[in-house]
Amino acid sequence: MGQTLQIERANQLKNKPDVSTIKFGTVFTDYMFTSRYTPEYGWSEHSIIPYQNLQLSPSCQAIHYGQSVFEGLKAYKNGDDVLVFRPDQNFKRMNQSLSRLSMPEINEENALDALLELLKVERDWVPDGEGQSLYIRPFVFADEPFLGVRPSESYQFNIILSPVASYYGNQLNPSSLYVEDDFVRSVRGGVGFAKASGNYAASLLAQKKANELGYEQVLWLDGVEQKYVEEVGSMNIFFVRDNELVTPKLNGSILPGITRKSLIELAEYKGYTVKEESIHIDDLANDLHSGRITEVFGAGTAAVISPVGRLNIHGVDHIVNDNQIGPVSQDLYDHFTDIQYGRREDPFGWVV
Ligand code: PMP
Repeated sequence: MGQTLQIERANQLKNKPDVSTIKFGTVFTDYMFTSRYTPEYGWSEHSIIPYQNLQLSPSCQAIHYGQSVFEGLKAYKNGDDVLVFRPDQNFKRMNQSLSRLSMPEINEENALDALLELLKVERDWVPDGEGQSLYIRPFVFADEPFLGVRPSESYQFNIILSPVASYYGNQLNPSSLYVEDDFVRSVRGGVGFAKASGNYAASLLAQKKANELGYEQVLWLDGVEQKYVEEVGSMNIFFVRDNELVTPKLNGSILPGITRKSLIELAEYKGYTVKEESIHIDDLANDLHSGRITEVFGAGTAAVISPVGRLNIHGVDHIVNDNQIGPVSQDLYDHFTDIQYGRREDPFGWVV
């Protein structure tokens, strides 16, 4: 990148929807960022263009062999300011994903500049209602028309934007998890640490099963022994055990969440003890049963903190904290979202 960013203006702008009524990921803004990679020019043709359909060959490599990665982050409105939470971390993780999938890395600084430029153009799309935000979806995929199995020679990097309502309305709501014993999400040496599109395809069947059994999301175990707790469908997992925070340590098959990393830093700053360790599913069941574990919550961009009120382990339901939100979850949620929306001082320099 490093070239100047071209902006192609739209003839007509869309009517802005009532964000409180829209479903996640269904409404997109007027513009998108796009750029293209070829072996000859590297990443080039950077531009902001009207949001539009892509033109692809039916032999496009991403469709057949899945060289496709993405990111997810959010922009928040505070008065006239538009704030973005740790965007540098998302582009850094995107490069880790790209590298694992044999795709060309992007220039992180230029990607950040392009995102900030796109947000300037689209600033009126950042909703200002309670808990609302503009979801940002950067993605890279292989677009070479070729059916041989080898890394594609050409790629596209796009960023699209979608206004989203508050995840919970006004209050945190406890959710339910089903611990999956048969299917696995990823294996050691695989692509679990990358935000590869195929990881999500692989998770859908277990998600459907959990829903049919009456649970909202899957809690995944490791793909080798199927004994150690990994993460939830699109969140990392935390436990409050003996008044300390505990979360599975990163092992290559867990996605290194930016919310996870930030929560660990914030919790330590606030004086909590945080432990990253391997958590055996039987120990988890025992600690829930004995009351040693008093709170369970998921952590991710979508909801920040998602308290868990019910957890099914090997067919046995465990009710956590009477299916109520615990004090540690609420404290961390309040502090974290205050920083994101610029309502409280940001001692970490997270907000751009
Ligand atoms: N795990 C998975 C599998 C995810 O898709 C996500 C969402 N990106 C997370 C964890 C949480 O990551 P983050 O805090 O960066 O949103």
